[in-house]
Order: sequence, then C-alpha cells, then structure tokens
Amino acid sequence: MDGKDLKGRELTRIECRSVDDLLLDVAEKRPGLARVKGKLTCSRCGNQDRNKMQAAPCSCGTACLYCLSCLNMGKIKSCTVLYHLPETNSFACYHEPILQWEGQLSPEQKRASDEIVGTVQSEQTRLIWAVAGAGKTEMIFEGIAASLRKGGRVCLASPRVDVCLELAPRIKQAFPEVPLALLYGGNEEGYSYTPLVIATTHQLLRFREAFDLLIIDEIDSFPYHNDLGLQFGAQKSRKIASALIYLTATPSGEMQKEIRRGRLATTVLPARYHGFALPEPECLWVGNWRKAINRKKNTRFLSLIRRQLQQKRRFLLFLPHIQLMEALDRWLQEVFPDKLFTCVSASDPDREEKVKRMRAEEYDFLMTTTILERGVTFRDIDVIVLGAEDRVFTEASLVQIAGRAGRHKDFPTGWVCFAHYGETKAIQGAIRQIRSLNRDAGRRGLLHGTVSILPN
Ligand SMILES: [Zn+2]
Ligand SMILES: [Zn+2]
Repeated sequence: MDGKDLKGRELTRIECRSVDDLLLDVAEKRPGLARVKGKLTCSRCGNQDRNKMQAAPCSCGTACLYCLSCLNMGKIKSCTVLYHLPETNSFACYHEPILQWEGQLSPEQKRASDEIVGTVQSEQTRLIWAVAGAGKTEMIFEGIAASLRKGGRVCLASPRVDVCLELAPRIKQAFPEVPLALLYGGNEEGYSYTPLVIATTHQLLRFREAFDLLIIDEIDSFPYHNDLGLQFGAQKSRKIASALIYLTATPSGEMQKEIRRGRLATTVLPARYHGFALPEPECLWVGNWRKAINRKKNTRFLSLIRRQLQQKRRFLLFLPHIQLMEALDRWLQEVFPDKLFTCVSASDPDREEKVKRMRAEEYDFLMTTTILERGVTFRDIDVIVLGAEDRVFTEASLVQIAGRAGRHKDFPTGWVCFAHYGETKAIQGAIRQIRSLNRDAGRRGLLHGTVSILPN
C-alpha cells in the first residue's frame, strides 16, 4: 500500500476509503474549516463568505458549520478532517516517442507550441488567445510531452464537461502509452493515480499541489470566470513551482486588462489555421421578435429564414431561451412543413444524436440555445442569432457563436447574422473584437485566403 490514491489529493475521511489506516496516520491533516488571516475559510474551496456557511447539529455532538459553496461535492464541516499526501510523481517510465501525433502544425501553431514549451520549462503562466478555429488542441501536445518527459504530472481542465469529453479521446490518441484519468461529476469513481488527468475545474478542488503543468481550456466559459472557488481550485491543485497555461478564444475583460498592462504573458493567434479571416457578423434589426413568435406574425426574421432555405444554405439558429425556441419550432413546422429541422438544448437527452445528424447534413437547420456556442464544428454552415440583444449573449458568447462559421478549410467562409431588437454593448463589443483580430491577422500577413480586410 503506497497511498497513491491520496498523493497530490486532499480528501475527507470517507473519500479516502481505499487508503490504508497506517498511511492516514502519517498523512498531513488539516481542518475542513480553518481561520486564514482571521477569516473562517473552507479549506477545500476557499469560501470565506459567512452567508455561504450554515450551522447544523452534527454527529460530533456540537453544532457544526458547513460550507454551502462546495456542498455539491459533499459536506465540509468544522469537524471535518482533510487528508493529504505529498505528490511524489511516482510514475513508470514511458518509451519514446511519448507523443505519437503525426499531424503538422502551421507556422502560427508552431509559434504558440514553442512558447508553451518555454513556459513549461520555466514554470510560468501564459495565456494562449487563439481565435475559434485556430486549432488550439494540437498546440498543447509538445508542452504536455515536455512536462511528461521531466516526470511531470499534467492536468487539462475545463469548466465544461463537453470540452473534457471532447479532449479525452484526442489526448489519449496523441499519448497512447501514458495512463490518463478522466474526472467529472458523476465519474468520480474513475479516479486512479495517473500522470495525465483530464478534469472539470470543479474536480481540481480535490487536488492539492499535484500538477507540474495545469492547462485550463475555455477559461472564460461558465462558470469559471465568475466563480472564485474554481480559481482557488486551480491554484490549489498545482504545485508551487509549476506551469499554468490558459487557453481561450475570448478572454474576459479582466484578463484583457491584465494583457494590456503587461501582467500576463500572452500568445495571440488572430488567424485561423486555414488563413481565412473570421466572418464578421452582420447586424440586423428585426423588431419585436418575441411578440412575433407568440402571435405567429409574419416578420423580418421569418424572411431571413426563408431566404436561407431558398438559397439552400444550412444554418444554426441560436435563441436565448428554451420556451421561445420550442414555440418557434412549432410555428416553423407549420410554415415550412417540407423542411427538416429540430431544436436542441442542454436538457435534451437526444442532443448528441441531433448534433451528429446536423453534422451529417440531414437537417436544413438546427435551432439551439447557447450550449452549441463552443466546442462544436460543422463543415459548411451559416449562423443566425435571434435575439442577440438578450443578456444570455455576452460579448464572449457572441464571439464564440460567430466562430462556428467557416471553420473547415474547404468552406472557410460563412455568413453570421446578429438579428436583434436593439443593439447592446455585447453585440458591439463582439464585432469590435472580431474586426480587431482580423486586422491584427492582416497586419501580420497571416491571411492568405481573404479578399481584403478593410481598416476602419
Ligand atoms: Zn461536527
Ligand atoms: Zn467549500
């Protein structure tokens, strides 16, 4: 028994069931709730907000406080003891080549890849700001390999389960000899002591000083960017001397400020791998589209859909809310009875199947909530956002959505339309961001596929 299930982890007594009692005796222990600089703090998630702690009669005989912030991972109480064994990186040696990916990096991808390797060697922090379609997964392979060669433990984390599920097979394929664990809520039994870990950012809270390289993908996506607990988890899970790489297509305003001030080392990839510019969205005022849906009133956005269908241009239609989407779906079934389409949302059990059928071009269009805003690729597609003014569509999510178009090298362009009932700051910000990335790419001579990039 070597306690490997506890190495680099920090777990409650129940969670370390598999660990030998003798090892628990020598393990490092600390209370679940402890004072940090005078403030009562949850040791697992870093919560210091007393409104997010509750008192309850406890089996230990007193009234114990427990943390509400990380409650969905099990209770952390005043009387909880957390156990930890230091990470020793006791992994078997691998045979070269560790990295068995045989694709080719574009010169831009290569530049990012080299900077990531440099960051791994110097154990620093770096943001990779790569536009949707830049091919960022391939860029991290060499960095991962560099850390593994040094005997490092590597974690790829994302706030979104979807992103983790999509990453896992690609990483497994690139590093077939290296044991990998995939951790997300509902798959916690999947834990084993491995040099490679793919996990949701939530799961990072169960690690402590484990990783030599932590890569966080889609950092801006819900809920990481406004959840201090998960940022705390990111810091807690990496070793004090370690490298941290952020990957995003849409850094938050806060992060963009850090970049401008020179406080965050950044690699910007403004161009897609195929050398065509990002499609710049067109804004179209469509009036009160909600009312139009509820009253089934013929309106501007209906002509938009009709035009797309006549031109046989397949498209994604984003809507801000499920109920509206379903109402629109019923109405459109009456208007276009001979067309093939459906709608998809996070609560849809058939969601994967529908996306697959859309990819196989079996639908004329697909209606969706923001769940398809990132992580999905269709070969040849236009994008319409109906109700782009709704507050669910942040600047970041609009940039991501626009990034669904023109991803494939054989179909590198596409039409993106923000159909709205009043322009918002988010709409303007998204368009500004896309234009500025295109200008940047043009200036650097990275666009060989475009007609022209107009300065403004
Ligand atoms: Zn208690
Ligand atoms: Zn907590």
